[in-house]
Amino acid sequence: MDIQKIVLVQPAHAGRIWGKAAGSPYTLMRLASMAPADIPVEIWDENLGPLNYERLDARTLVGISSMTLTIDRAKAIALQARRRGSSVVVGGVHSTLVPDEVAPWADAVVVGEAYRTWPQIIQDCAGDKLRARYVDQEWTTLDGLTPISDRVIQHTDEHRHYWTPSLEITRGCPRNCTFCTAVRVSGKIMRHRPVEQIVEEIERRNIKRFFLTDDNFGLNFRTSPDYMEKVFRALEPLPLRSWTAQSELIVAQYPDLLDLARRAHMDKFFIGFESINPDNRRDLGGKTKGQLEDYKRIVRTLHDHGMNVVGLFVFGFDHDTVDVFETTWRFVRETEFDSVSVTVLTPFPETPQRQSLIEEGRLLPNIPWSHYDTAHVTFRPALMTPEQLRAGYDWMCRQVYAPRQVATRGLRALRRYPWHLARAKAFSSFSTDLGYRQAYGFRDR
Ligand code: SF4
Repeated sequence: MDIQKIVLVQPAHAGRIWGKAAGSPYTLMRLASMAPADIPVEIWDENLGPLNYERLDARTLVGISSMTLTIDRAKAIALQARRRGSSVVVGGVHSTLVPDEVAPWADAVVVGEAYRTWPQIIQDCAGDKLRARYVDQEWTTLDGLTPISDRVIQHTDEHRHYWTPSLEITRGCPRNCTFCTAVRVSGKIMRHRPVEQIVEEIERRNIKRFFLTDDNFGLNFRTSPDYMEKVFRALEPLPLRSWTAQSELIVAQYPDLLDLARRAHMDKFFIGFESINPDNRRDLGGKTKGQLEDYKRIVRTLHDHGMNVVGLFVFGFDHDTVDVFETTWRFVRETEFDSVSVTVLTPFPETPQRQSLIEEGRLLPNIPWSHYDTAHVTFRPALMTPEQLRAGYDWMCRQVYAPRQVATRGLRALRRYPWHLARAKAFSSFSTDLGYRQAYGFRDR
């Protein structure tokens, strides 16, 4: 096939926040950068608007990256593209977890990281030798990744179209929490990008703030403190305004690194508390220990180091009863989080948790993948009915995202920080809460 154009597609999943899509399509930007320079390449993000299928033909190679949540949408897009004669390759989280399910409607399925298989796919497609499946789960070093190219930076125009640029510094997580796909999608060995490549990319993309896509950036405070120090010292001189990472509670044990992170313009941690019910700890890979008072102290410590804290909570674990909502809400109110995310436990494919639910016959029937958005109930909880979980979760969302609560969390920044910092901190708190509020509301659209 004489490839005239490569189109990389991100199916819609979240709508827009004040006219912009949430985060820039980082994986697709990387894959687009690996396309040969003489083949035009485009990224089509359905979150930005409807796709123009008329621009696809038999000389277009279409790549679709999809999570579980968007896989039905990905299928609809793939069928449209194939109807127009295009070759369609499907990768991403869902293809990696359950490739056999995707195979019947794709010309090729990508399992694992496409950074090594994608050049081969393009070559095979050009030679009419496309294979049905490409697998890369070696989790090899991030050292040799192709830099994001200038033509992709220009084409994506992320400052105009996206709320927050995305960036990756590390990848992988060894925790293996029973509900999480990270081990299967990113590998259980934590890998690091070379620091100079991170700096070069930030400068060339001209980004002033970013969201780290890393599964568990904070774990590196314990496992790779020297690397963390190098990263923070390298980012300190850059003209960054703020950046944000996902983490676990242990970061509070490293005050020197927290100081360096603050000087490197980091200003917010998303911390996975998951459950405050100690009986659920078996599901959390050993990442939460201690009592509620310890958690409150940890949040205060992070505040003392200038970090906003977004508390992430999940409901529906096996030891959760209907009391879990009130207990968690009390904890949230007493803990002075800057923003809060509440979700329903979701049994994603190939996780130990899903396996147990299948064995116990507790998956609800006829639930579409589009409901695997962490805001729908998809299984029978152990100590509640599905209706109780749904009603409790709705109640929790109404408490957490009530305008008065959102305002209270945002306005706390005004007394916690000097004025020149407080406005940005308050805005950061408001915007995160409003994003979550919208995501929750998106469920019923
Ligand atoms: S610590 Fe976070 S990223 Fe790691 S396995 Fe658990 S939930 Fe997933």
